[in-house]
Amino acid sequence: MKNLPDLFASMVFGDRAMKEKMPQDVYKALKRTVARGEALDPDLANAVANAMKDWAVERGATHFTHWFQPLTGVTAEKHDSFISPDGEGGAMMKFSGKALIKGEPDASSLPSGGLRATFEARGYTAWDPTSYAFIKNNTLCIPTAFCSFSGDALDKKTPLLRSMEALETQALRILRLFGNTTVRRVLSSVGAEQEYFLIDKSVYDRRPDLIFCNRTLFGARSPKSQEMENHYFGTIKPRVQEFMSELDEELWKLGVFAKTEHNETAPAQHELAPVFTTANLATDHNQLTMEMMKRIASKHGLVCLLHEKPFEGVNGSGKHNNWSLTTDTGINLLEPGDTPSQNAQFLLFLSAVIKAVNEHQDLLRISVADAANDHRLGADEAPPAIISMFLGEELTDILDAIEQERLYEERERSSMEIGATVLPKFPRDATDRNRTSPFAFTGNKFEFRMVGSSQSVASPNIVLNTIVADTLMQFADTLEASLETSCNFGETLNCLIRDTLRENRRIIFNGNNYSDEWKEEAGRRGLLNLKTTPDALEYFTSEKNIRLFSRQHVFTESEIRSRCEIILDNYRMTLETEAHTMISMVRRDITPALFTYENELAELIDRKTRLTVPADAERKVLERLALLGSALIERTDDLESALSEIADCRSAFDAACRCRDELTGRMNALRETVDALEASVASKYWPYPSYGEILYSVN
Ligand code: ADP
Ligand code: MG
Repeated sequence: MKNLPDLFASMVFGDRAMKEKMPQDVYKALKRTVARGEALDPDLANAVANAMKDWAVERGATHFTHWFQPLTGVTAEKHDSFISPDGEGGAMMKFSGKALIKGEPDASSLPSGGLRATFEARGYTAWDPTSYAFIKNNTLCIPTAFCSFSGDALDKKTPLLRSMEALETQALRILRLFGNTTVRRVLSSVGAEQEYFLIDKSVYDRRPDLIFCNRTLFGARSPKSQEMENHYFGTIKPRVQEFMSELDEELWKLGVFAKTEHNETAPAQHELAPVFTTANLATDHNQLTMEMMKRIASKHGLVCLLHEKPFEGVNGSGKHNNWSLTTDTGINLLEPGDTPSQNAQFLLFLSAVIKAVNEHQDLLRISVADAANDHRLGADEAPPAIISMFLGEELTDILDAIEQERLYEERERSSMEIGATVLPKFPRDATDRNRTSPFAFTGNKFEFRMVGSSQSVASPNIVLNTIVADTLMQFADTLEASLETSCNFGETLNCLIRDTLRENRRIIFNGNNYSDEWKEEAGRRGLLNLKTTPDALEYFTSEKNIRLFSRQHVFTESEIRSRCEIILDNYRMTLETEAHTMISMVRRDITPALFTYENELAELIDRKTRLTVPADAERKVLERLALLGSALIERTDDLESALSEIADCRSAFDAACRCRDELTGRMNALRETVDALEASVASKYWPYPSYGEILYSVN
């Protein structure tokens, strides 16, 4: 391996490469344009494109693509080569400013939720110069936003950028109120910890459920499971180590700060955490990380499973979305400060997040809703579908003291007067013990733990940025008004923080989120418990949410409606595909296996009876199998007829609800029968590798 500093970002057309490859005036003009968020002028675009192409060709690139994130959840690209006729019968490598700035992929089959009529199916992609171009597979990838010709966002990047802007605008207003005139930019920072499973390709290839649905639809529990918990932080197996090393190296080349790699709770489960960066880059980088994980796994004869719940009864995979606010002067606005005024500012930002999360529980839940994640949320290993916030005891005590206008006892016996008191330093470790909370304050950032392992982090961050922006806007309005009417700023601030804490108290919960008592308590507090995707999506198009997103210029009403429809359609398609796969596995593999085994037993009973030898044991086994066999056929028929009735639903929402109500219960029932059969049928007849074989397939 080359030395790390040379290797890092060697495939990224970042600042270092730009300086080297572009004439100084071009470099400066580009930097200026990006800093001001202006459009590139055509001459500049040509110069940038040319430099980019020369740099890419030197590194072996032959093609370029506009790399974007459509609403399918993965990334999309359409490759064009640089090749162009040179006018003398030969070929030359060419890349114009026009091709850099704008592309028109014929992406009519990508979902738009009705935003694009088919006659104007083409959308266009536009370069996002805040995310650098990079080379992957000999292709220069240009990170782009994807829109329809009428300007509707058809991707995840566009609203993410809009939400970052909304948040920045409002955060700057607050900073100005605290007399800060030096900060020019406030960016949301994100570090996305990624969990995944690695299994051997040979077992994967024999599981149609993994191939078609990315999760096992059947599978009896393995005799040895994670109860023994010797995997977590255990030694990493050599084959996995080789995979991780290659993954790190490839990610480093792409400028992804892959930092920690370790085993997770379940057998075959691992985690990768990068160093945090801006929300926009973190989202791009997480998409690249997932793509690289799959590609590199396959080079090592492995398969990387990113599904939220690949195995029943075994921990699922999530993605912890660590989120904070950072200024261009390097200050984290969620870090308690050293002076009373810094603390007042910290408490105001903290209160804003508390209020935002309390008032927009529905949106946070919606931002992580899909069929796969429904299996995980509330399954005793992941936070429940109920949103609450963990602040740790010490910080909660401080907030209580503020709320009740009493002395804060513990430390300095001082009155908790905002803007007058230096907060005690919170030991970061002490605040991070609660692993059951969906939304935890971990000392200087919030960790949103409901995100699913295969999901893009764009949606949760769009929601976080927007709801916090909207709350900060209300705060700034109040505080600015108090300055104008020459009220006492300190007094207004005190009241604002105190009232916000009082009104949003119910969202704070420091206890065990997995317990049944919490579900009851949350019900008493009036917190939402949106268990399934359709339950959650019902809230997406509410008047309140449409107004919020329009006010912050993040989504238009039609963009919300289209997104809602796509999520619901995906939910239905996922459940239907799973049901079809189950039926096919039962009919084509499981039933024949059962009959073969039954036949062997029946022949044995026959032969033993002819020899007048008792065959009670065989008869007992056969009878049990026959009973399970009847249930198997009955439940499969039942699922099949329920499935055939889904087709004629009026709306995407109706169809999703029907799938939830008519399919999930039947699928669970069928699974129960099949898993009981797996435990009773001779293993030589069972058509699929067992959980034990899959989970311990990598040595
Ligand atoms: P753990 O959660 O395992 O205790 P850390 O808290 O150190 O580990 O970091 C977890 C993730 O949070 C990493 O991806 C890290 O880069 C990210 N992170 C750390 N500080 C911040 C911050 N201020 N804003 C956003 N993400 C952060
Ligand atoms: Mg963490």
